[in-house]
Amino acid sequence: MINCLLCGAEMIWCDEYTFENLGMEGTGVVTNLKCTECSASADFYSN
Ligand SMILES: [Zn+2]
Repeated sequence: MINCLLCGAEMIWCDEYTFENLGMEGTGVVTNLKCTECSASADFYSN
């Protein structure tokens, strides 16, 4: 489980995109997580 760097609350899966969706080169995936307590979000890039 991932915790928010700003407030320490649990972060939950929000959305997922391919690089193609974002107009980026390659075949990677971007996973977006959001904090359940504050407005923080995090993108994880995997390729
Ligand atoms: Zn937070």
